[in-house]
Amino acid sequence: MTLRIGVIGTGTIGQDHIRRCSHALVGSTVVAVNDINQEQAAKVVQQQGIEAEVYARGHDLIKAPEVDAILVTSWGPSHEEFVLSAIAAGKPVFCEKPLAVTAEGCRKIVEAEMAHGKRLVQVGFMRPYDQGYRALKAVIDSDKIGEPLMIHAAHRNPTVGESYTTEMAIVDTLIHEINVFSWLLDDQYVSAQVIYPRKTSQAFAHLKDPQIVLLETAKGTRIDVEVFVNCQYGYDIQCEVVGERGIAKLPEPSSVQMRSGAKLSTEILMDWKQRFIDAYDVELQAFIDGIKADKITGPSSWDGYTAAVTADACVAAQRSGAIEPIRLPQRPAFYE
Ligand code: NAP
Repeated sequence: MTLRIGVIGTGTIGQDHIRRCSHALVGSTVVAVNDINQEQAAKVVQQQGIEAEVYARGHDLIKAPEVDAILVTSWGPSHEEFVLSAIAAGKPVFCEKPLAVTAEGCRKIVEAEMAHGKRLVQVGFMRPYDQGYRALKAVIDSDKIGEPLMIHAAHRNPTVGESYTTEMAIVDTLIHEINVFSWLLDDQYVSAQVIYPRKTSQAFAHLKDPQIVLLETAKGTRIDVEVFVNCQYGYDIQCEVVGERGIAKLPEPSSVQMRSGAKLSTEILMDWKQRFIDAYDVELQAFIDGIKADKITGPSSWDGYTAAVTADACVAAQRSGAIEPIRLPQRPAFYE
């Protein structure tokens, strides 16, 4: 059976996911699209050479009988209403991060999904599908380095536009680290603090860059993450786990090693889209396969909710300069 997908939001990541679901992955086709800019949605249909109906309203696309599952790739503040509408229609929905822009919104989705009685939602946190992070988790789970004590990590972008704010360093950028560390460690956060080092001259005046976020988990693991979004030299994701008996480091993306001009070098990626390109394929294939197997297993609404609560605490810590508590309820059995 070919899964018939409807996509809401035909911007950067929406177009990329439409290409995946129509031309790259197994067992899916895109039959409907919607964007607030209908002309642009029609153009995407034409450019990608797919036979998909353009809907004027996202909610009509969700209800359409020919749509089996929905991808929400629109602007963040619109996610909550579309995910709730998909749950009300009893249809599986893959929602790009954020699940909702407030923890309260995420909580509503969790409650609606639990009331439905079966998982329908997968959140677009793709790092758990990245080969490097999976290898790192396998080492941690094998106990080869003992219990994890610390993580030293960095999320660096070459530059960001003028509209990027200090808060976005948390809600747009760090959010992926928030998700992946709790998955890596099988642990949840209890506190957050944000420290500002000397500001780079390469950032716009309103933006505090870089930032260091310090997270503490329930088991006592300490995590320091440097978020530096105007580092100039590349898109660079670093993660080193310090255990009781050894250290495990996220592998670098594969790249040809060059000996040339009296230098030994490898390239560093500049474009974030390239860094996790395979992980996006794997996460969406998992969504498609999960629906067919009647068991969605990827990052859940609960993961979206806990990431939002943690991000809120980090934003509070940005403002207060203090160590902010993170109070997360017990994971319901529904999401085990
Ligand atoms: P984008 O290029 O701005 O695309 C979003 C599209 O959604 C735009 O065409 C926008 O139209 C449209 N839109 C806005 N509100 C809508 C609504 N109510 N109904 C239908 N369409 C609507 O943004 P993007 O970079 O693709 O990001 C989209 C989402 O994916 C964001 O939540 C972002 O955080 C997430 N994302 C995740 C990753 C990841 O690594 N997992 C990477 C990139 C993006 P207008 O332009 O006319 O407003």
